[in-house]
Amino acid sequence: MIPTPETKLPKVETTIFTVMSALAAEHNAVNLGQGFPDFDVPKRLVDAAARAMADGLNQYSPMPGLQSLREAIADKTECCYGYRPDPNTEITVCSGGSEAIFNAIHGVVKAGDEVIVLDPCYDCYEPAIDLAGATAVHVSLDPRTFAPDWNAIKAAITPKTRMLMINSPHNPSGAMLNRDDIDALIELLDGTDIYLLSDEVYEHIVFDGAQHESVLRYPQLRERAFVISSFGKTYHCTGWKVGYAVAPPAMTKELRKVHQYNTFCTFTPAQVAFAEMIREEPEHYEELGAFYQARRDAFREQLKQTKFEPLPVPGGYFQLVDYSKVSDLDDMEFCRWLTVEKGVTAIPLSPFYANPPKGQRLIRLCFAKSDATLDAAIERLKAL
Ligand code: GLN
Repeated sequence: MIPTPETKLPKVETTIFTVMSALAAEHNAVNLGQGFPDFDVPKRLVDAAARAMADGLNQYSPMPGLQSLREAIADKTECCYGYRPDPNTEITVCSGGSEAIFNAIHGVVKAGDEVIVLDPCYDCYEPAIDLAGATAVHVSLDPRTFAPDWNAIKAAITPKTRMLMINSPHNPSGAMLNRDDIDALIELLDGTDIYLLSDEVYEHIVFDGAQHESVLRYPQLRERAFVISSFGKTYHCTGWKVGYAVAPPAMTKELRKVHQYNTFCTFTPAQVAFAEMIREEPEHYEELGAFYQARRDAFREQLKQTKFEPLPVPGGYFQLVDYSKVSDLDDMEFCRWLTVEKGVTAIPLSPFYANPPKGQRLIRLCFAKSDATLDAAIERLKAL
């Protein structure tokens, strides 16, 4: 008899995004749950990928990514954040931001280490930490503004702390780190040997003239940081699964050791296409904030017709709403009810927490959707 495996990830179940998308499909609900854009991928990008395939560029790329793409990323990074990472030693193209995060954690985090994560946090962080034999130490963000409490983070640091993970613009809340946060972070990490992992996959989706405070702008932070980006969010192609990590050479070396035996390399035709797209159409990412700001504003206007109370959205493509005036159910039950009985799918916040705040009545709605989809959702939400 083959024994049933003893699970290595006892806390893990099917992700809330998959669960809610399946429930949405089953009940024919309007799906504002799982975060994926339903806009067309830019034509140049699709054409370039198709051309690459037709031209026979279908074999392995170099392990760290196509040279042309790494050069394009280096130039774009310099243009956006005033720092040009070395394409040969500091940039690694991965099969999505999640792969880059996994590689970074496994590259430097050892069994017995601690990694500080800020709740609510994205669901792929903790399993990667657990598989490394390390412990995730959860520190809560402010339950209303989702700002970090730097004193609480400082208090969580121990001699075992190997890494701190941050995320701005933040999923699920859309909150962004500001310059004061960066100063506090610099002071906090100064003199320590703690690595920083900065998840910046929503870097171009920022609103109201705010500046995205990439860690790459700050020498005191980037010397210890893995900075993670995602083409899926920027170019409306989450299913292509292409992202990258920027880190100093010694850290990149360790990240690449994991990448090399994890996926080895990333889908070549997409890399050819992104290299062309970044160079030839920079206006796509330059205008992405304005594109999403218009959608955010229109969606918030529509929400005024409902009893849901929207929280501010400084960045990203998620709108948190407080549903206290609609229901007293907890967020998991409420999201189930909303899908099954009312035909609208949202994401509850509690799965993003080790210890969800008591009585929190917040759900996440994705507004990276066509007008027709948002209109249909509002029609149903209005009736509540
Ligand atoms: N990043 C997406 C979200 O936050 C989910 C991706 C996934 O389903 N794994 O909704």
